[in-house]
Amino acid sequence: MRPTRTVGLFVLLLASVSAAADSPALRDIRVWASPDSTRVVLDLSAPTSYTLFTLDGPDRVVIDFERIQADASAIKVPDGMGVVQAVRIGARGREGLRVVLDVGSKVDAKAFLTPPNETYGHRLVVDLGHGSASAPGAVAAAPAEAPRPVKVAGGDGERDLVIAIDAGHGGEDPGAVGKSGTREKTVALAVARKLADRINAEPGMKAVLTRTGDYFVPFRERTRRARVQQADLFVSIHADAFMDRSVRGSSVYVLSTRRASNEAARWLAERENAADLIGGVSLDDKSDVLASVLLDLSQNATISASRDAAARVLAELDHVGQLKKSDVQHASLIVLTSPDVPSMLVETAYISNPDEERKLRDPAHQDRLAGAIHAGVRRYFYDNPPPGSRVAALAAAERGQALRQTVAQGEIPVAGT
Ligand SMILES: [Zn+2]
Repeated sequence: MRPTRTVGLFVLLLASVSAAADSPALRDIRVWASPDSTRVVLDLSAPTSYTLFTLDGPDRVVIDFERIQADASAIKVPDGMGVVQAVRIGARGREGLRVVLDVGSKVDAKAFLTPPNETYGHRLVVDLGHGSASAPGAVAAAPAEAPRPVKVAGGDGERDLVIAIDAGHGGEDPGAVGKSGTREKTVALAVARKLADRINAEPGMKAVLTRTGDYFVPFRERTRRARVQQADLFVSIHADAFMDRSVRGSSVYVLSTRRASNEAARWLAERENAADLIGGVSLDDKSDVLASVLLDLSQNATISASRDAAARVLAELDHVGQLKKSDVQHASLIVLTSPDVPSMLVETAYISNPDEERKLRDPAHQDRLAGAIHAGVRRYFYDNPPPGSRVAALAAAERGQALRQTVAQGEIPVAGT
């Protein structure tokens, strides 16, 4: 999947092409849309100063560069997406450049420079918030959807269990990329959607997705969304990668109560956590993240529940393909640090392994993976039903049924003597 729409509209010949060769260069512009914000990423050869401001009548967001090189023929100006209706670039003075984003409504515009990562170089990231969830300080803005009242015999007020399903990566963060170009973010979302469909078809359970499209969501925001929805379980879906392309199999991770216990887990933690640097925003609260990780060290009950649920998912994945590790693994992953929501991260397979990459692209195999995770989640909640949930009533009925069968079978030899 291409990360950007690259129809070249509004590309103007720039008077500033002749700017001094040592000026930073604007190389590309990309747009990503999520339900409550739109992100515009300007790829730069080096960090450079800029001015960001908004204009109204009609609403626009303007980014001015005093001194920058821009090769108009090389920049593919993207189509509008999300709140951005069109992107225009034009010369500003002899060496400057103006980027204008035509937006459909008032936006909360923020920008930050971010250093290179595995995928991209220096970038100026412009986030355009629209909708209450992205307003500053609006952490609790998205109202928790009230648990659906469920009617079962004698069960007034029994609630549905909420399973938060988190498709890893997204937007300008592709995650791991297979040899044939398959992106982790794409297969993660496909499996997440199939899992959500299965959970929603399950009596007494409902799924919420932390992302529903191809856009980036910071880790803290993913766990926050799960919390706002009062999730009973958080399942993050990923695909693994390793330099050795023969490595294959599924693994399931829960938060480590101490330092990652082995080299592979530490490597994974570094790679998965590094993705959040792309979000930029989370850098502001790094000490906060650290504090929450430290706080979580005492959340043994949550981790114990996470481990129980993860073990059941791992057992089901064993029926779909081979396991990388037959035990639940532990790692220091920020996305798993909710103190009160049992959380697991499923590395469905190795996208770096050509055979597994092919399978990850196959909708039938994606469905088998979703089916295994669903079966493990279901088994966990039927073995550990939260009081007051509809599943608790269903589990009690299932146990009663099983008990009656056992008694009935027990009576057979009695009758035969
Ligand atoms: Zn991942």
